[in-house]
Amino acid sequence: MIPIADYHMHTPLCGHAEGLPEEYAAQAIKIGLEEIGFSDHAPFVVKELPGITMKREELPAYHRMIEEAREQFKGRLTIRLGIEADFIPGYEKKTKAILSAYPYDYVIGSVHFIKEWGFDNPEEREKWKEQDVSSVYRDYHNFLRQAARSGLFDIMAHVDLVKKFGHRPTGDLTDDLRQTAKVFKDTGVVIEINTSGLRKPVGEIYPSLPNLKIYCQEGVPLTFGSDAHKPEEVGWDYGKAMKLAQEAGYKEYVMFKGRKIYRKISL
Ligand code: ZN
Ligand code: FE
Ligand code: FE
Ligand code: ZN
Repeated sequence: MIPIADYHMHTPLCGHAEGLPEEYAAQAIKIGLEEIGFSDHAPFVVKELPGITMKREELPAYHRMIEEAREQFKGRLTIRLGIEADFIPGYEKKTKAILSAYPYDYVIGSVHFIKEWGFDNPEEREKWKEQDVSSVYRDYHNFLRQAARSGLFDIMAHVDLVKKFGHRPTGDLTDDLRQTAKVFKDTGVVIEINTSGLRKPVGEIYPSLPNLKIYCQEGVPLTFGSDAHKPEEVGWDYGKAMKLAQEAGYKEYVMFKGRKIYRKISL
């Protein structure tokens, strides 16, 4: 058995993914999924980021493309319309204007930037050398909590993305993590098991088992996503994702429609 939904996948509009939504949908059917959702990178709010996020004027094309796939796969696969948006402190209003302009099924919130540093961008990887890894982790968690409190997001993406290149903090950051999980629970955001970490230098699902256990203990609901940037990545390593969720103690995962949880599936 594998999870029946994949809520994290991209389109070529962001400039670094390939394949049409129809191809992602066909792959989903092939591996036995019942529902997928697109979550391409929302326009960046500080400046344009070509090759990283969509442009604002590309949003209508994005919505149209997903709508067409939806029509084409009617009765065979449910297709949700989501979006993945960066959390940038100080730009909440601008972010809200973008995210509330269209009736998404869910909004995935991401922290890919710490004080203008794209810490997960291979092109900015060198900057890790100048950093104290533990304080990057603490900053990251601080941003995750702020993002949850902003009320902009339904699902928080890859909640230990800081490990992407294998940097590990010294010392125990469990308290930080516990605090983040409590804020997620209080603000009603959900997390995802994101299998893309298995395709990255760290070679590990986001989040790790110990982290996931804490989110489970605090009662934070769960979704699944492959973060596919190519059709063949849809449902990537879903068997491992399922096992991880069960090992962490999760008994169910949730599905979204109209920015609300509408269905819960037992694990
Ligand atoms: Zn991407
Ligand atoms: Fe992301
Ligand atoms: Fe993504
Ligand atoms: Zn992502």
